[in-house]
Amino acid sequence: MSSIRKIFDEHHDMFRDTVQKFIKKHVVPYHEEWDKKGVVSRDFWLEAGAAGILCPDVPSEYGGGGGDFRHNIIVVEELMKVGATGPGVSVHSDIVIPYILNYGTKEQKKSWLPGMCEGRLVGAIAMTEPGTGSDLQAVKTTANISNEKITLNGQKTFITNGQTADLIIVVAKTNPKEGAKGTSLVMCEGDRNGFKRGRNLDKVGLKAQDTSELFFDNVILPKFNLLGEKGKGFYHLMEELPQERLSIAVAAVAASKAALNWTIEYVNQRNVFGKKIAEFQNTKFKLAELKTELNVAQIYLDDCIDKHLNKEFDAADGAMAKLWTTELQCKLVDVCVQLHGGYGYMREYPIARAWEDARVQRIYGGTNEIMKEIISRTLKI
Ligand SMILES: Cc1cc2nc3c(=O)[nH]c(=O)nc-3n(C[C@H](O)[C@H](O)[C@H](O)COP(=O)(O)OP(=O)(O)OC[C@H]3O[C@@H](n4cnc5c(N)ncnc54)[C@H](O)[C@@H]3O)c2cc1C
Repeated sequence: MSSIRKIFDEHHDMFRDTVQKFIKKHVVPYHEEWDKKGVVSRDFWLEAGAAGILCPDVPSEYGGGGGDFRHNIIVVEELMKVGATGPGVSVHSDIVIPYILNYGTKEQKKSWLPGMCEGRLVGAIAMTEPGTGSDLQAVKTTANISNEKITLNGQKTFITNGQTADLIIVVAKTNPKEGAKGTSLVMCEGDRNGFKRGRNLDKVGLKAQDTSELFFDNVILPKFNLLGEKGKGFYHLMEELPQERLSIAVAAVAASKAALNWTIEYVNQRNVFGKKIAEFQNTKFKLAELKTELNVAQIYLDDCIDKHLNKEFDAADGAMAKLWTTELQCKLVDVCVQLHGGYGYMREYPIARAWEDARVQRIYGGTNEIMKEIISRTLKI
């Protein structure tokens, strides 16, 4: 990409430099090992915390970097640039943290945020259940709130950071007779009695990232662990999902850029029929199309980021950003695989992994069909 992006200032550029150095030293040499183990190491989280890579937009009074969402974006972009899809940093910093920042009491913030900034406490959010994903109002997990305690019962699945997480936001029914109005958010610590982690699920891609089943069997929590208002959980989710989808869009564009760069490099060195693949008109035209579409996507995405910073980014905006960029990502990586020929199907080539990793982007964070449903609500039809 040749154009200079307008959304960052020199503080962001300095931070990007720090992030690049951190990734080179603490991520790239270990990613293959994490890929085989299906989980990133604890050391990664602690080192990332010490380097200020986690929670860069959390106020410094809670141990964060005191920056803004653009700092979070830089972390995602730099990880994607090297194909490091293992660390579930985005779930931790961009998705879990805002619930605590926006709905937590001062005591809850003091209790949880410093550990999350240091990487001592890894965050996860558990919405999806075996019986329901898209229809969040239908969750069956219950949180029974009495005078002194909360009793949590149920099961979740597909939870990112599930094997590692120390703090899990659990979406549960506090009034099972009601849908949205009966839903609340409850924070469950990873060492509570009755809490169990299931399998680390065997995924098609994102091999270095742990994704788990979680079980809650009469888990007793203090009332302190209710996050936000009782019965308002669904509304809190609706408020925060646009940022989650924006973060997915950031990853989509950054991963697409990396895929395009790897492909340009490859077609310039592979010879077929006595010339470089890059010299075929088909290759040039395909790459030209992708570069154009990617440029358009980046400018659109930066506009979305700008809107988000100005608090003008709504649910439909988040849905459109996720829909457009993840569809592009999947199309782009597929073309890039094709230009690699058989090597594009070999996991030792980063493009093969980029292809595996891309597919889920159209599924999690709300499927792209659900994105269209959200967008269609803004149309006069
Ligand atoms: C790798 C990975 C990581 C994940 N991480 C997390 C996590 O950290 N936390 C978490 O809570 N969840 C997580 N998820 C779950 C993810 O968000 C859900 O898988 C997703 O929301 C879809 O839910 P589902 O799988 O139950 O599919 P379903 O809801 O059963 O959907 C199946 C199909 O039906 C379509 N469909 C459903 N409703 C409609 C409708 N109204 N109109 C048209 N089509 C519709 C869907 O688009 C889809 O094509 C993760 C999933 C994966 C694969």
